This record gives sequence, structure tokens and C-alpha cells, in this order.
Amino acid sequence: ADARIGLIGLGTMGTALALNIAEKGFDIAVFNRTTQVTRDFAAGAGDLAPRITPTETLEEFVAALAKPRAIILMVPAGDPVDDQIEALRPLLDDDDLIIDAGNANFHDTNRRVAASDHPYLGVGVSGGEEGARHGPSIMGGGAPEVWARVEDIMLAISAKYKGEPCAALMGPAGAGHFVKMVHNGIEYADMQMIAEIYGILRDGHGLSEDEIGKVFEDWNTGPLESYLIEISGKVARARDVATGKPLLSVIVDAAGQKGTGRWTAIEALHLLTPIPAISAAVDARNISSRLQERASGQDIFGAAPQRFDDLDLKTLEGALIAGKILAYAQGFVMIAATGDVYGWDIDLPQVARIWREGCIIRSTMLDDMAAALADHAGDNLMRTPYFADLMKTHHGALRHVVAGAALNGHATPALSSGLAYFDMMRTARGTANMIQGQRDFFGLHGFVHVNGATDQHGPWAQD
Ligand code: NDP
Repeated sequence: ADARIGLIGLGTMGTALALNIAEKGFDIAVFNRTTQVTRDFAAGAGDLAPRITPTETLEEFVAALAKPRAIILMVPAGDPVDDQIEALRPLLDDDDLIIDAGNANFHDTNRRVAASDHPYLGVGVSGGEEGARHGPSIMGGGAPEVWARVEDIMLAISAKYKGEPCAALMGPAGAGHFVKMVHNGIEYADMQMIAEIYGILRDGHGLSEDEIGKVFEDWNTGPLESYLIEISGKVARARDVATGKPLLSVIVDAAGQKGTGRWTAIEALHLLTPIPAISAAVDARNISSRLQERASGQDIFGAAPQRFDDLDLKTLEGALIAGKILAYAQGFVMIAATGDVYGWDIDLPQVARIWREGCIIRSTMLDDMAAALADHAGDNLMRTPYFADLMKTHHGALRHVVAGAALNGHATPALSSGLAYFDMMRTARGTANMIQGQRDFFGLHGFVHVNGATDQHGPWAQD
């Protein structure tokens, strides 16, 4: 009974995380619903086997852990987490710690923390299997004294950015899972914007997959340097194993999703915080899956998109830079909105710092974002001086790309939603006066007069 920590769920993420924990020098006990999986895992643990205690029953698992125990759950989000907690509960002491490191909905984490008779952490882990194995970005949620019990492990297994661990406590209860959710929402927008520019390179410029790969490789040495641009270049250059054709040419263009992008869009609506670029990216995945309807749409309305190559690569790169800033700005504002609604005080610069390495949206730009958010606390990222300068430089490019795309039948939902957000957020007098006029006309909802008087009405109120 001396393993420092336990882990339940030896799937893709659980095995990688368990090996990472063992490699960093912590003794770990593991358990999996299907016993053979545990046996195979232990047999394949190699040099790390001495630090790993495989167990075949929950009783054996619990008995293998040093007290007070700390147990990581790495099972699918939802009912499996509740079921696993229920199964563990009779075997645990009061001060034993449960850590849900899956992609839980943060509302579930809030609920579980409130209902738990044990210390509880909800921890978002990003970086896929590779990240979990060699260093993920870790977003913790829970009480500081509870986090402190496993902080050394979390810091040790996390990715490092120039030596700084990419793991931190974001706030109470579901705060870690909330930040992970928004991370995934931003990831959707970043991926969608890259896909939109890929479409212009492919159908507008008529570039081959290898040529497109080269464009992304070049961009990965500039301001867009990021994991997602890097892998986009690799995906573009890859060949289909079966046919030898360019891989992209054999992949059906219907995007899958597991729900965290959708949760981000739903929560943003609840929080009344606009994230149009992220929501557009979720919608784009939903539209992409309507393959039949899209094919019949093409039959009725004619083939789109058209060839257009009058925008140079610098302009396309600039559009992606501006679009990316806007998507991240929206995500950070959404995280800040939890202050009013949940009373969380999530440290935005720290969020940016722990996203610099390990996670899917890691990029050099996040280092500048961390600095900008630290120097200008509470401001929208796009208005901070460094990023405002970048937006001044590149919003013209975004405008040209969105306009050219629209005129030539290329759909750019995330880029154009980002641009609309930018234009609304830099227009002192917009058009909602018309909305207010309409609302007053049909519902006498009242409006604020430009002279400051509130609850004013139009002439129809006198009828
Ligand atoms: P896998 O499907 O690879 O593994 C799931 C594991 O959970 C298996 O060990 C499985 O055991 C076990 N399990 C499934 N259902 C139950 C249940 N009802 N009770 C007990 N154990 C169960 O999942 P992943 O490792 O990919 O994902 C785990 C969590 O991590 C999820 O919340 C996921 O969203 C999250 N995540 C995944 C990422 C990824 O890139 N894959 C990235 C970040 C987070 P058995 O062998 O018996 O089937």
C-alpha cells in the first residue's frame, strides 16, 4: 500500500498518463474495467514496470494506494465517471481524493464537487495521446489545498515551456474543465480557419496538396508558428496508405466532433458572451456532415467555389493572423465572463501561459498573448497594444480574403464571423438603434435616448 497515486481507465489517455507519471518517478497503481487490458499494459511497461502496480479488482487497487489516497479517473465523460465514483465510494476513506481527468462537462464537475463527500478535482488535460505521454497542458479545478496534494505530480508530468510547467489550478470546482472546454472551442475555430484558407489555396489558387503543404511549412516559421499549422502542413503532404494518392484527396469532408466545441457555443450563449468565430466553427462541422444535402445543393445551385487567385500568399497569411487573434480574443473574454456568473477569478495570463506547450492550440503567439493579457488585465486581447497593432496591420487582409471568398463562392464562416465581430467591436455607433426601435414598436420595450433619458418610446406609444 505505497503507490503515491492511482489511475482508473487504461484507454488511450490513461495508459499514456500512467506511463508519464511512472517515468517522472511516482509509484502508481492502475485498474481497468477489462482486466486483460491491465495485464497487457503491465506486460508492456518495460523499464517503467517497477513503478507500476497493476490491480485486477477495485479492492486490490484501493489497497495498493498510500493514504490519504489520490485516484485519477481517465474514463469517458458522463455516466462512466459517476458510475466509477459510485463503485469506489464504499472503499474510500473520507479524505481520499478523486481526480476526474477526462473531458467532463464543467457543469457535471460543479455538481460532483458539490455532492462529493471526498476531496475532488476536475482536471482538463490537453495534448492528445502524445501530450499525455510526454507532457500535456493541465488545467486544474478545485480547492487550492486539494490541488496542493497532487501539484508536484501535475507539474512534473506537464509540458514545459522554456522550463515553466504548463499546469496550474484555474479556479474552484469546474473551472479547470471550463478552461479546457474553451480551449477546445478555440481549437475548433483555429482548425476551421486553417481549413478555410486551405480551401482558397486548393480551389481558388488551384495548388496541389504538396504545394499547400509547403505554404503551411513556410507560415510555420512566422507569426502563425503553431502545432496546428505544423500538422496541417504534414497532413497536406501525407499520402494515402492504400492508394498512394494525396491523403487529403481521399478523406471525406465531413468533420467529426465529440461535443466540447458544442458545449463552448452553448455556454457562451448562456453567459451572453459573443464567440461568433468559435460558434461558426461548430456550425461548419455540423454543416459539413450533411453530405447528401450538400450534393443535392450543388445540383440545384451549380458548382461552387470558383477559381480566384488574385490574393497573394501574404494576404492569406495576414487573414489567418487576424482571424486567429479574434478567435482567441473571444475565448479569453468568455473565460473572464465566469467571474460575474460563477464568481471565479481565472487568471487569463496564466491560462495563456499553460497553453504555450503541450496542448493542441500551442503556438508562439500564445506567449505574446500571455504578456499582453498580463500587461492589460481585463481588456479584450484584440485591444491590447501589441495585438491592436497586429489587427491594424492585418484586418485589411482578412477583409480582402472574406470579400474575395464571398464573391467566388468559397465559404469562410469562421473568418467572416471573426471579421464581423471585429467590425462591430470597432464601431461606436452601430445599428442596434433599429432593433430597439422595432422592439419598442411591437412590444413597447422602451429605448435609451441619445440624450441619456431611459425608458423612452416612439410616437406609437401615444396612440
Ligand atoms: P478510451 O476510449 O481510449 O478509453 C476509455 C477507458 O475507460 C478504457 O480504459 C475503458 O475500459 C474505460 N471505460 C469505458 N467505459 C467505462 C465505464 N463505464 N466504467 C469504467 N471504465 C470505463 O478513451 P480516452 O483515453 O481517449 O479518453 C478518456 C477521457 O479523456 C475522455 O473523457 C476523453 O474525452 C478525454 N480526453 C481524450 C483525449 C484524446 O485525445 N483521446 C484528449 C483529452 C481528453 P475498457 O478497457 O474496459 O473498455
